[in-house]
Amino acid sequence: MSLICVSVAVVALLVACSGTVQKKRMITVSILPQKFMLEKIVGDKFEISCMLNEGNNPEAYEPSMSHLMNIEHSAAYFCIGYIGFEYAIVGKAHVNNPNLKIYNNSKGVEVMRGTHFSPEGQHDEPDPHLWTSVVNAIAISRNMLDAVVELDPDNAKLYAENFNRFKAELEALDARIRSKLAGREGSAFLVWHPSLSYFARDYGLRQVSLEYEGKEVPIDKLKQNIDMARESKAHVLFVQREFDSRQAEAIGEELGVKMVKINPMSYDWEAELENIADAIASN
Ligand SMILES: [Zn+2]
Repeated sequence: MSLICVSVAVVALLVACSGTVQKKRMITVSILPQKFMLEKIVGDKFEISCMLNEGNNPEAYEPSMSHLMNIEHSAAYFCIGYIGFEYAIVGKAHVNNPNLKIYNNSKGVEVMRGTHFSPEGQHDEPDPHLWTSVVNAIAISRNMLDAVVELDPDNAKLYAENFNRFKAELEALDARIRSKLAGREGSAFLVWHPSLSYFARDYGLRQVSLEYEGKEVPIDKLKQNIDMARESKAHVLFVQREFDSRQAEAIGEELGVKMVKINPMSYDWEAELENIADAIASN
């Protein structure tokens, strides 16, 4: 009798163990728009951990201990491409997790240069805000598809179907934004931090960034900055929580433009891009 009990206990233990073995594999991504895109492709087949939370500034971010632990337990790390902290993680990740696969989701995406200041003050570094473009998002998602097929070939067909559905959704979003912005080609919008270079490129708009080399505008440059903003004839100034500056508000008031809070780092990425288009199209 006791032998049977032991056998039952052993079987129960084995079932419990096989349960943990089948725990979902994890993929770590850098930013929430990546999480949104990756979920569209993998559904619930992987657990997805994201490094940056809403409101984190990607250019000043230092990964927390729990995020680093997630990378250690991940099957793969998907970086978006050119954010400073990613270089540090990619350089060190293999030390603690030799099996970690690293994929650059922006592989093959045409980067813009000269539109963004790096914290070191170099002007020709790749503009890291690649995800503020629906065109880029299609390429990013395709890179994600290739990576997940490599990580989990058994579900390749499902992932390809999901990707095709998402691609159609992105093409529809792009078409909606194009129709909202029709006839606005060449017009300018103001933004505090230059996070919309790719959006501007896609739709033939002109992004005028107000911050000065990633910081507040020095007093002696302020007039020049305000004149430049006036000359652009822009009617909207976009501000982002993660690059918050009280000076942005003061300049916006001085110019008499409409100030719009945006969050292209959000999980709700599609709605954010559409809101940006709506604000530009709104006068
Ligand atoms: Zn930036």
